[in-house]
Amino acid sequence: MSMSPESRTDNPAASIHENHWCEHPGCSKWGCYGFARSKAEKPTWHCSEHYPHKPFGR
Ligand SMILES: [Zn+2]
Repeated sequence: MSMSPESRTDNPAASIHENHWCEHPGCSKWGCYGFARSKAEKPTWHCSEHYPHKPFGR
């Protein structure tokens, strides 16, 4: 067996992810941390720097 690099475009899991970048003004980092006040509300996305509710480190 050989491992050949494949670029799959029909990955169903990839389509689940929306493009959400950090909403901090001027920040162009990837917003990997989502925060929503309620489930009805659309979550806002923040990078690790600007995430206001860090679950780690105090
Ligand atoms: Zn940011």
